[in-house]
Amino acid sequence: MGNRSTYEDVLEPQLVLVAEGDEVERNVLARHLTDLGHRVELAEDGAQALDLLRHRHYPIVVAAWILPQLDGIELTREIRALGGAYTYVVIGTAHSSRSHRLLAFEAGVDDVVGRPFDGDELFSRMVVAGRVLATEQQMRQVVRERDNAQERLRDAHRLLTVASTRFEELFDGLPIACFTFDHDFRIREWNRESEQLFQIPPYLAIDRVVWELFSGKSRKPWSKSTLEKVLLGGNMDQVEWSMTRQDGTMCYMLANIFPLRGMNNEVRGVICGNVDITARKEAEQRGEVHVKQLNVIAMELERERMKLEEANTRLEHMAVTDGLTGLRNRRAFQQLFEEEFEKHLRSEHPLSLILLDVDRFKQLNDHYGHTTGDTVLRELADTLQRTCSVGEFAARYGGEEFVIILPNAGPEHALERAEAFREAIEAHDFGINHVTASFGVATANGKLTDGKKLVDQADEALYESKRRGRNRSTHYRHMIAARLNLSLDAA
Ligand code: GH3
Ligand code: MG
Ligand code: MG
Repeated sequence: MGNRSTYEDVLEPQLVLVAEGDEVERNVLARHLTDLGHRVELAEDGAQALDLLRHRHYPIVVAAWILPQLDGIELTREIRALGGAYTYVVIGTAHSSRSHRLLAFEAGVDDVVGRPFDGDELFSRMVVAGRVLATEQQMRQVVRERDNAQERLRDAHRLLTVASTRFEELFDGLPIACFTFDHDFRIREWNRESEQLFQIPPYLAIDRVVWELFSGKSRKPWSKSTLEKVLLGGNMDQVEWSMTRQDGTMCYMLANIFPLRGMNNEVRGVICGNVDITARKEAEQRGEVHVKQLNVIAMELERERMKLEEANTRLEHMAVTDGLTGLRNRRAFQQLFEEEFEKHLRSEHPLSLILLDVDRFKQLNDHYGHTTGDTVLRELADTLQRTCSVGEFAARYGGEEFVIILPNAGPEHALERAEAFREAIEAHDFGINHVTASFGVATANGKLTDGKKLVDQADEALYESKRRGRNRSTHYRHMIAARLNLSLDAA
């Protein structure tokens, strides 16, 4: 609607109430107004007019000043008191003095016209009335629109307040440590979880430049160049970083960093959400340390176990080996002999034993020294070992005495074997004078039940070899047979 009313606007047909006591005047007035296109209702006095006005709205009232019951001025005051939509009041009066007019306007009258009513004058006054009413309507419209706009503004403001409060509450209450910063890299928002996790209260965080806030604690990912990429629209997902907190403890975070966008998709800042992964990280580290420690311990154990095994093997070997010659020692001989004797008893296969003693070894020692004596014993042992056939076992019986077990060997074979050993010793070049040994042989034939007896027999036969001049072999049986023959001869 424009500001200036058109001619048609002001001549818009209106509902006009005419209040006139004089019947002739009333009808003249009614006819004039009807001619102008208005609808007219009539009241004969002020009271009747007011009654009508109370029941409906009349945009225009044309009333005589002098009216029965309620005069035009009093009627105007009542109209103004009614309020509501505007009523344009025109009063007709024969007194058109200045003081009269002022009185009328003070009471709320819009226009004063002369009386008796003149058609042309009335026409021009009605044009004014139409213009005023139109303006008044426009004003009302504007006021209504302004009120509506204000109401909408208030609603919007209310919604905005609710939304922003809600956003702040949500952000603050997020279960992950969140903060935002602007293009100048200064922290803008800092939620409760951030305060807890980083041990930095909002008043110390807000407005600080991100990398200054986390400086010296963790470089990654808080460098200008990195964050500039996010401000250009790039995301950073699942970034692991860590920092040392106020209380000296470490905390580990998994961060998602991405740009905050405005209405037109422009980057307004950056938001960073951090999940606390300290427990997991520490558990991992503890696990790694444990695994490393366990590995070290396991390796040490393995080394110790191997040392122990070696020591055991050495001990076992030492336990059954003669230190000087490397042959089985007496203990090993005893054990092996017992086993072989058991076998012999079960199988009734023969079992022979050779015992030998180095001849005049004391002299050798005295002459060449104990060390040479040792060397002789070692070489002699080697000679025995080399001469052993499969299944024969040589051992050092003690001092310069040796023993050989011959499983499954009968007396003749055993004696042959003794001779072979004896000859091997005799033939060996010890680097000094001839070294010889005397041999005693015994064979278990099934009658013998005690192994020790076999050793005694071999020993006796050995003694016989010594007695007969050394460097020879004697079988116990032959010795006994010879003795029997001797005694038979003697008899
Ligand atoms: P025989 O012909 O009667 O056996 O004379 P022999 O000198 O060998 O007699 P005897 O059994 O009395 O002497 C053995 C000597 O062997 C005594 C001892 O000093 C020596 N002997 C024993 N064991 C060792 C040893 O391990 N090394 C050295 N070098 N000598 C030993
Ligand atoms: Mg001896
Ligand atoms: Mg000897």
